Amino acid sequence: MSDFEKTNLLNLNRSGLESYFIGIGEKSFRAKQLMQWVHQRGVTDFEKMTDMSKSLREKLQAKACIDLPNVDVIQKSKDGTRKWLLNVDGTENSVECVLIPEKMRTTLCISSQVGCTLNCTFCSTAKQGFNRNLTTAEIIAQLHLAHHSLLQEGNERGITNVVMMGMGEPLMNFDAVIAAVDMMCDDYAYALSKRRVTISTAGVVPAMEKMSQVTDVSLAVSLHAPNDAIRDEIVPINRKYPIHQLLAACHSYIDGYKSRKITFEYVMLKGINDSLENAKELAKLISDIPCKLNLIPFNPYPHAIYECSDKETIDRFRAYVSSKGIITVTRRARGEDIDAACGQLAGQFKDRSRRSQKYQLSLQDIGGLKNAH
Ligand code: SAH
Repeated sequence: MSDFEKTNLLNLNRSGLESYFIGIGEKSFRAKQLMQWVHQRGVTDFEKMTDMSKSLREKLQAKACIDLPNVDVIQKSKDGTRKWLLNVDGTENSVECVLIPEKMRTTLCISSQVGCTLNCTFCSTAKQGFNRNLTTAEIIAQLHLAHHSLLQEGNERGITNVVMMGMGEPLMNFDAVIAAVDMMCDDYAYALSKRRVTISTAGVVPAMEKMSQVTDVSLAVSLHAPNDAIRDEIVPINRKYPIHQLLAACHSYIDGYKSRKITFEYVMLKGINDSLENAKELAKLISDIPCKLNLIPFNPYPHAIYECSDKETIDRFRAYVSSKGIITVTRRARGEDIDAACGQLAGQFKDRSRRSQKYQLSLQDIGGLKNAH
C-alpha cells in the first residue's frame, strides 16, 4: 500500500479513531493510547508506541500513517513572534501559522483554508484568492508542530491558547475545523480548555447556529462596522447575512450559557469606520450582548487601499465604547517585521478557479445548511 492510500490518523478525532480501531478489529481504547503518543508525546513513528503489541504496530504500519506537512520556512520576529510556512500537499500550496508568546500565555494563530473566499476588502489573504479547505490533519498539524517545537526547546507548557484567526474562514470549512478543535480540547490530546480555543468568523450565520450545537469553544466575530452600509462594503458576506441576523446568531450562541461571551473584532480603518459617530452606533448595537471588543489597528501590506486610523482616533473610539460599559482593548500588533500580524498572512498558492464559484460551493458545503435561507 502506498502512503497515498494509507489512512492519515491525524485526520481523526477521538470518536473517529475509536471507529477506526474497531474497524480494523481492535479495541476502542487504542484510540486514547494513540492520541497520547501522537499529540502529547509528539511521537509519530508507530514502532515507538511501546504499549501497543507488535502485531498492532505492524498492522498500523501497513494501513495507516501520521502525516505532518513539511515546514518550508520558520521566521522569528524580534518581539518573539514566530511564523511557520507549511507546505500542505507537496505542490505550491502553503499556509501560515503564527505563534505569539506573552507573559501569561502562548497563543497559536491557526489557518483553516488555503486562501479565503470571503473577499474582505482590507485583508491580504483575500487578495490571494481561494484554493481549497485544509483537512483536519493539516489544521491540527499546525498545533502539533508549534507545541512540540516549544516543548523540545525546554518550554514547559507549550501552546496554551489557540485562535482560528489565520488564513481562511473556519466556518466555511466546518467539519474539519470542528474535528480539529475537538482534538485541541481532548484530555488525551492537547487538553486546552474551551475558553482558550477561539473560532473567529466573518459571520457565516447558519454555520454559527450549527456551531453552537456541536461545540463549546469560544466565538469571535469580525464585526468591523457599526451598520450594514459600511459592512456591506468591507465584509461582503454581510450582503448575504446582514448585521441583525449576525447579532441574532451571537445571541443564540450565548443565551442560556452564563460563561459564554462573544469577542467582537473591529479593524480600525482611517476615515471608513473610525469616527465618534461610528463608536456611538457600535456601542448601541452591541450593548445588550455579553461581549468584549478588540480594536485591531489596520495592518498594512503592499497595495492595500486603506490606512490605519491615527492613534488619537483609536484612543477616542476606545474611550467612548468603554464609557458605555463594554470592555474594549486595542490589540497590539505583533510580528510586523515578519508579516505575521492580522490580515498579513498570505501564504503562497495558486487560485486555481474562480473565487465566486468556490464561494457558492462552499456555502452549500456547510452540511445541511442549504435550505436555511
Ligand atoms: N475569517 C475569519 C478569521 C480570519 S482573520 C474572520 O474573519 O474572523 C482574523 C482577524 O484579522 C479578522 O478579524 C480579520 O478581519 C482581521 N484582519 C484581516 N485583515 C486585517 C488587516 N490587514 N489588519 C488588521 N486586521 C485584519
